[in-house]
Amino acid sequence: MSRERADARQLAISLAGDAGPLADVLAECVWNDWLYAYIDHDVRVRFPYLDSDEREYVALLTQHALRSQEAAESEEGLWIRRIRAELLPLLDGEPGFCNLDGVMRFRAKVLLQTAEDAAGEVVEQFLADREYEEFVSLLRYMLESRPLTQSVIHLFCTDERVWMCDEAGALIRDDAVTEAAHQVAEDGDVNVEDLAMSVLITRSPCRIVLHDVTHAAPWPSFPETVERVFLNRAVRCRNCAACRRLEQGDAGEAPRDLSEGSGRWLPRLSD
Ligand SMILES: [Zn+2]
Repeated sequence: MSRERADARQLAISLAGDAGPLADVLAECVWNDWLYAYIDHDVRVRFPYLDSDEREYVALLTQHALRSQEAAESEEGLWIRRIRAELLPLLDGEPGFCNLDGVMRFRAKVLLQTAEDAAGEVVEQFLADREYEEFVSLLRYMLESRPLTQSVIHLFCTDERVWMCDEAGALIRDDAVTEAAHQVAEDGDVNVEDLAMSVLITRSPCRIVLHDVTHAAPWPSFPETVERVFLNRAVRCRNCAACRRLEQGDAGEAPRDLSEGSGRWLPRLSD
C-alpha cells in the first residue's frame, strides 16, 4: 500500500468517524462522573438523614454494583455502549449545544431508574448493617456488665434448632431467663436465638464452643453474632463427632429449642 493510499484511508476514516472519539470520551465521563453526581444527588434527596460520608459510601457502592452488572453483561460495556449510542447522533451533525443533563434524563431513563433502584438497595443494606452493629454493641455492653465465669458452654446450631450443653453434655436451659423472655415478648412467642443469647450473656462463660451446622442461615447467622459478641471467648469446633452426626441428619433426641429437654445430649463432646 502506497503512502498516499494509506494517508487517504486514514483521512477517510477520520472524516467519517469525527464524532466517535468525542462520543467515547463523553460516554466515559457520563458513566464515571455524571452518574456519580446523579446518584449522590438522588441519595441526598431521598435519604436526607445520611451524612456526606455515608452518602459517598452509598454512591460508591451503587456505582460498583452498576459496574459489576456492566461487566457481567458484556465485556464491551452494556451501559456505556448505550450512552455512546444516544450521544453519537447529537454530536455527529452541525456543531451546536448539547445539554448532557437533558440527554441523560430523557434518553437514559432505564439507566437512571436502575441506578436509583441500586442506590435504594444499598441504603437498605447499609441501614440494616448499622442496626446490626448497634445490636452487637448493646449485647457486648450487657456482657461486659456480667462477671466472667469459668463455665464452658457448647452451642449447637442447625437450620431448625438451637440448643446448648455444658462440658459434660447436659442440656442447658434457664427457666428464669425463659420466663423473663416470655414476659417481655409482646406476642408471647420468644425467638429461640434471642433466648439463647440471653442465657449466654447471663451465664457469661469463659468459653463457648460453636457447633455450627447451619447451611441456609441468612447473614448474620446466630453463630456469627455469638462470635461478634463474645470475640475470642467463642471458638468453633473442628468438625467434631457431634457435628458429623448432625451433618448426616442424625439429630437424635436433640431438643427443638431451649425450652424443652432436661437430659443429656451428645456426651462425646471431647472429639
Ligand atoms: Zn462440633
